[in-house]
Amino acid sequence: MRSDIEIARAATLKPIADIAASIGVPEEALQPYGRFIAKIEPDFLREAGADRRDGKLILVTAINPTPAGEGKTTTTVGLGDALNRIGKKAIVCLREPSLGPCFGMKGGAAGGGHAQVVPMDAINLHFTGDFHAITSAHNLLAAMLDNHIYWGNALGIDQRRIAWKRAIDMNDRALREVVVGLGGPSNGFPHEDGFDITVASEVMAAFCLAADIDDLERRLGRMVVAHTYDRKPVTAADLKAEGAMSALLKEAIKPNLVQTLEGTPAFVHGGPFANIAHGCNSVVATRAALKLADYVVTEAGFGADLGAEKFFDIKCRKAGLKPAAAVVVATVRALKMHGGVAKDALGIENLAALKAGLANLARHIANIHKFGVPVVVAVNRFTADTEAELDLVRRAVGERFGLTAVACDHWARGGAGAEPLAHAVAALADAGEGQFQPLYPDELGLWDKTRAIAREIYGADDVVADHAVREKFRALDAAGYGALPVCVAKTQYSFSDDPSRLGAPTGFTVTVKDVRLRAGAGFVVAQMGDIRTMPGLPRRPAAERIRVVDGEIEGLF
Ligand code: ADP
Ligand code: MG
Repeated sequence: MRSDIEIARAATLKPIADIAASIGVPEEALQPYGRFIAKIEPDFLREAGADRRDGKLILVTAINPTPAGEGKTTTTVGLGDALNRIGKKAIVCLREPSLGPCFGMKGGAAGGGHAQVVPMDAINLHFTGDFHAITSAHNLLAAMLDNHIYWGNALGIDQRRIAWKRAIDMNDRALREVVVGLGGPSNGFPHEDGFDITVASEVMAAFCLAADIDDLERRLGRMVVAHTYDRKPVTAADLKAEGAMSALLKEAIKPNLVQTLEGTPAFVHGGPFANIAHGCNSVVATRAALKLADYVVTEAGFGADLGAEKFFDIKCRKAGLKPAAAVVVATVRALKMHGGVAKDALGIENLAALKAGLANLARHIANIHKFGVPVVVAVNRFTADTEAELDLVRRAVGERFGLTAVACDHWARGGAGAEPLAHAVAALADAGEGQFQPLYPDELGLWDKTRAIAREIYGADDVVADHAVREKFRALDAAGYGALPVCVAKTQYSFSDDPSRLGAPTGFTVTVKDVRLRAGAGFVVAQMGDIRTMPGLPRRPAAERIRVVDGEIEGLF
């Protein structure tokens, strides 16, 4: 069996101008990065599509994943290819991969098998430099903050209350907590600091939710980076940093166009963490795609309890997007795991466990219906899946919800393997039954929003927190941030805040350990669990197997 990078390398790519032309983007509107990657000029996008209706937005989400990932990216790509194969005009929208996971355990994020975006090595490594620009903008603000204190601290910043760390796009646990400013007065004041991985930066979240560069500048200016001795918030605008930060991001915010293995246009742009941020590609890219295609297939990170909820309640609410349909990706393997099967026994047929595990899928389907979005289930087929198992999923989904569950082979066969899924998705989107509405209204208080998510989406009895955390919620409401949506940071493996409770747990509460304002991104983060914003590398990092042979990169997956 060929590896992802072998399959990607064997593909014949079309010049990016041809891909652009296929969606009506002229060469003048392209800013090429080599032959197969281009950014699209905002001037063109502002005018584009004025004479036609926006395309239909299709979200690809999933059941609670097992550590391997369930194939959301792969399915997003395969579905995009399949829609084009059946004569529909489709564009795929994905996040940009982060270097950290590429070299760590998870690998790249450009899809897999015969459903990938290419050139996968470039997309996974450096790409168009967007993450470097975001890292630089983030660190410019850190430098300006320390510099302000160095030159007399006119704003009266309390150095014990600095809330802005440094950023780097690498899994490097040694940088989680550091001391900076050592070496004497000319080097500033010694203080504790730390690094977050770039995808966890608030700059990344603001970048991905901004409508354009002007909106991004306003958002960056609103970010709270410290407090003064009399406890007043200090923003990036107070430090006069937002202008230069957006200058660094001027090119980055233009969406990146690439192609799938089968020549489907794909925007790969922006990549916020799915835990402390909202986990989907930029609003700029999604809006551009909707103007240029009839169907836009996009992915939200993690399972639907986190990914789809944030996609709907944060991104769609704020950007005014109305998704027409959602695809919930499930695998027989993961469903069996939710039904109690151990990881090393997943290759053996087990209908009883599968049946039990279907409870996880059922809750996600019911949840998405609460947003008024119709659902198709995609069973991403693995070689060990048996016909009896696939049949059981199809029947259960049909009987319980009257929905279609489609087994898909895009990983093994490309778009041809997802044609039945494409027919089902197009029919559902075209039926126009979607009546999208967010889960809670803007006016609901922050605590009540968090409770609504916990009860309605997770199936929790209630949400609990220490007195001090409740006070923080009240203070944020009182300070005028009450209308923001809530971004929950929680384990992706369970509906609950305990990663070992698989399936569809009941009779539990979730605990909010902290709440943080992200005024530039435009949400507050309710933290349920210990969420790392700087990952580490595993014992055997993927980096050990990556090298250049005869001028080509090997070992990426
Ligand atoms: P997600 O987006 O849900 O994290 P990905 O689409 O990135 O998942 O897939 C995770 C990994 O699983 C990738 O390495 C991909 O190649 C692999 N994969 C996906 N679908 C299949 C499949 N049907 N059979 C075998 N491997 C698969
Ligand atoms: Mg993915």
